[in-house]
Amino acid sequence: MELKQIQIRPTSTSTSISSPVKHKKSDYSFSENTPNSNALPLLLYLTNAVFFAAVYFLLVSWRDKIRHSKPLHVVSSSEMAALLAFAASFVYLLGGFFNPLQEQQELESQEDEEEKQKITNLKKKLENDQHVTPAAAIKSTDPIIMSEDEDEDEDEEIVNGVAEGRIPSYSLESKLGDCKRAAAIRRKALERITGKSLDGLPLESFDYESILGQCCEMPVGYVQIPVGIAGPLLLDGEEYSVPMATTEGCLVASTNRGCKAIYASGGATSVVFKDGMTRAPVVRFSTAKRAAQLKLFLEDPLSFETIAAAFNKSSRFARLQTIKCAIAGKNLYMRFTCSTGDAMGMNMVSKGVQNVLDFLQTTDFPDMDIIGISGNFCSDKKPAAVNWIEGRGKSVVCEAIIKEDVVNKVLKTDVASLVELNMLKNLTGSAMAGALGGFNAHAANIVSAVFIATGQDPAQNIESSHCITMMEAVNEGKDLHISVTMPSIEVGTVGGGTQLASQAACLNLLGVKGASKEVPGANSRRLATVVAGAVLAGELSLMSAIAAGQLVKSHMKYNRSNKP
Ligand code: ADP
Repeated sequence: MELKQIQIRPTSTSTSISSPVKHKKSDYSFSENTPNSNALPLLLYLTNAVFFAAVYFLLVSWRDKIRHSKPLHVVSSSEMAALLAFAASFVYLLGGFFNPLQEQQELESQEDEEEKQKITNLKKKLENDQHVTPAAAIKSTDPIIMSEDEDEDEDEEIVNGVAEGRIPSYSLESKLGDCKRAAAIRRKALERITGKSLDGLPLESFDYESILGQCCEMPVGYVQIPVGIAGPLLLDGEEYSVPMATTEGCLVASTNRGCKAIYASGGATSVVFKDGMTRAPVVRFSTAKRAAQLKLFLEDPLSFETIAAAFNKSSRFARLQTIKCAIAGKNLYMRFTCSTGDAMGMNMVSKGVQNVLDFLQTTDFPDMDIIGISGNFCSDKKPAAVNWIEGRGKSVVCEAIIKEDVVNKVLKTDVASLVELNMLKNLTGSAMAGALGGFNAHAANIVSAVFIATGQDPAQNIESSHCITMMEAVNEGKDLHISVTMPSIEVGTVGGGTQLASQAACLNLLGVKGASKEVPGANSRRLATVVAGAVLAGELSLMSAIAAGQLVKSHMKYNRSNKP
């Protein structure tokens, strides 16, 4: 994505406006202006020739003397001349060798001066130009080496720019190319603007690159939520340690007690009886008749193959399952349902829906006016009967038979009290309240805690917590049959927050991290059953606490600790 094409932050090989420039010698060794052997003056060439000619003449002459056994110290006049020429040219060449180096050093210091001047000019320009940020200027200059102090000075300059509104806060990541630095600068600017301290909101030890363009914009830190473990939850023959991120005292302890009761009774079983994410665009025609024609077309089994071909083309995992339409006058709401593999699937289903809308407009329904890709008949993150009745995401039922002695010893109550309480509270009480999917004691508590721990979208807790809890005395009234039916658990193990380190660790603990290698969708379905299993445990424990009159007592113990 575009935001990810970030600029590399200045390091020792890039330039800052605020620091003096230090060039490596090698930067200049072969520059155009540097004197080298090609640029030597003519006199130097001649001296070179004299030097080598004298050396050659002397060597030849001494070789002949040695051959004819003549003494070397007897020097002829020509040899004397050659010796003088050799000495003179040698001295001259020695001087010529050092001179260019000296010139080079002079040139270096001259260029350093020029560079300093360039930086001073740039600074002046920045001061005058309100729209050029120091970070932007970083891009345009040459390599430098920055010290820590210079780094801080530069950050301070950017903080001021953000606080004064000259630099947009949202642009820091792309301009600096360093997400952690961007967050730190934004945070300082925020403190300066608001006059409020953010001490206590941690900044360090977080991978800000991992959320860029994915999970959160304009970060200034992160909130810490403790993660507790309930379990083992014995579900479908497997043991799960369930991570719950919460700040509500009692919640993990209570769910843990429910898990213990389930375990001692032989475990719970679950079934995913539906798996499909939905998206429902709203379109408008000039007549109700045309809207009805499209409804008939979309719901005609003969059309399905054509529509599915258009829908499925944008993903390997999105496979159209059904289309259910609702008419309101000239407006049509089309609820598309599709499988989404291990993704929660909102992106996937939206892309598929867009494909179908394009197809309809270019074929038999060019008069269709697309009002919105989402027309709330989906329905996402809002209480709606359509999800409760039709299901959305994973529809799961989970059950267990809790033995009489476990009800007595672990849950400290009895079967008859639990069945009566369930009927009067979860069923009748919720009916009296006009509940929509809220026929339970506290499913949302467990759903939210597991959602946050495993990187799900917490706002989808609204429909994911739809749950009806049923209790019945079985085995001649001795044991308790308990079930939770949850028609719209919206979870995924790829995409969104699931890829962040801590959330991925929690998914890993459950053995459902990432995409399933064997069957696409198996991991996300398993996660949905774990959510339902944990809800079962939570319902069992809270209902028992209420039945036994323990609720206030235990909250006083865990929520109001002895701390002053
Ligand atoms: P969502 O649709 O839940 O918003 P994303 O679009 O963020 O999810 O993530 C889904 C992405 O992950 C898609 O690009 C998809 O191709 C990819 N992907 C890889 N493996 C799987 C899998 N097993 N199931 C679903 N999606 C997968």
